[in-house]
Amino acid sequence: MAAATARAKIGAADIVDVDGLRPLAGVRGLAGVRVYDVGQGDGIAILGMDGEPVLQFDYGGRQGNPFSNAPMADVDMHMPTGGERLLMISHWDEDHWCSAPRGQSAKAARWLVPRQITSPRAVKFSAGLSRISCIPEDHVGQSWRFEAENGDAIWWEKIAAAPDVFAREEDCNRTGVALSVVKAGEDGSEPGVILLPGDAPFDRVGHYRDHFGSGLRLKGLVAFHHGAGTHWTKATEQLLREWSARADVPQIIYSCSNPNAYEHPQTKRYEDNIPGGVQMRTAVLRGQGVAYTDILF
Ligand SMILES: [Zn+2]
Repeated sequence: MAAATARAKIGAADIVDVDGLRPLAGVRGLAGVRVYDVGQGDGIAILGMDGEPVLQFDYGGRQGNPFSNAPMADVDMHMPTGGERLLMISHWDEDHWCSAPRGQSAKAARWLVPRQITSPRAVKFSAGLSRISCIPEDHVGQSWRFEAENGDAIWWEKIAAAPDVFAREEDCNRTGVALSVVKAGEDGSEPGVILLPGDAPFDRVGHYRDHFGSGLRLKGLVAFHHGAGTHWTKATEQLLREWSARADVPQIIYSCSNPNAYEHPQTKRYEDNIPGGVQMRTAVLRGQGVAYTDILF
């Protein structure tokens, strides 16, 4: 028998019909994204036109999270989700889901997740969720879309395949899910895109290259891996440089605690490759008594 500390695979069943999910049914359009101060980690809501959260991407916050102390102690109130809203996670590292057990609303949501080899704690937590489905491996590398009524859309993609059946470990950052939020412009608004890569470098996400190729304006992004200086490649730098050259003023959000043990964020990477970008750290919000910051189209 495997030791209790052995890493294992998420055991939920694959979703049968992704297109049947329709999490944006009844949503008029998309306004942007809301990045919560969760300390070290990610917790992001996609916003509808009335400012209402319509889909949650990651529900984390590990070191330095604000949820143990008032006035932020009520995680349900500060990061509302649940009901028919979909909750997706980029990957199973703790800083991307570990606020969910603290409250009730995330546990009540529908979850769509990558099947990954992860901690016993994540496997156990996922097994207790009543509405959780995994993304089928034959969906890997394809871009999927959830569309609002006006053509705005949340694009998502599981960026790489799971390791083979004999694997004991997985680099979850590299095999997870990346999102983007697209303003289609069909209602006369200016088209644009906001990138939510989780912990994966931007150039690893196939549909980001498609967005770049289609001429979409880069409205903003959440820095991958909390602003890490590692895993940058020439391809990542080139993509950001060329994309931001045709943007107005891209917004860059670093979702990390202050201080943290990882030297996040390495802002110079972004200053060099997105000159003129407006930078914001979630860590400064707490001092202002603010729970989140938004990127709006
Ligand atoms: Zn992370």
